[in-house]
Amino acid sequence: MNACVDPVVGKILAGWRYDISSLAPEMCGDYEAHLVVCERCHSRQRLHRAVDISLIVLASVSAGVFLLAFGVIHHLEPRHALILELMALGGFVLSALIWLIVAVATPAPTTMVDIARFGARQVHDRLPAEIRDRLPEELRMKLTGS
Ligand SMILES: [Zn+2]
Repeated sequence: MNACVDPVVGKILAGWRYDISSLAPEMCGDYEAHLVVCERCHSRQRLHRAVDISLIVLASVSAGVFLLAFGVIHHLEPRHALILELMALGGFVLSALIWLIVAVATPAPTTMVDIARFGARQVHDRLPAEIRDRLPEELRMKLTGS
């Protein structure tokens, strides 16, 4: 792997887990420029965002599975149903807590919104022109930014 082109800036970015989304726009410029020219920091930033998104997806799936388990236990009513239901609810609460922590402490939600907007823009660009023209003006503005 290539070395960082500016280790001082690279260390600062590493300390922030390569998240500059909460910085003021006038402070972002240098860091954004560094992320453009430095291959190492850019790949680290992508890795960290992938970890954030994986955590939030995993917590969502986990919460869903615990909720499903609760539903199944409630429906089938096996022996010790109350203990099993409480365990399933505990797992759901823990998963929801982890989801909330990841959503608040990392830029995963904004990253996911950016990915969704990028996907919507690609779908919009592939639409036939007559359908594209029928879309409301404000929706088109949100998708294309112009
Ligand atoms: Zn760097």
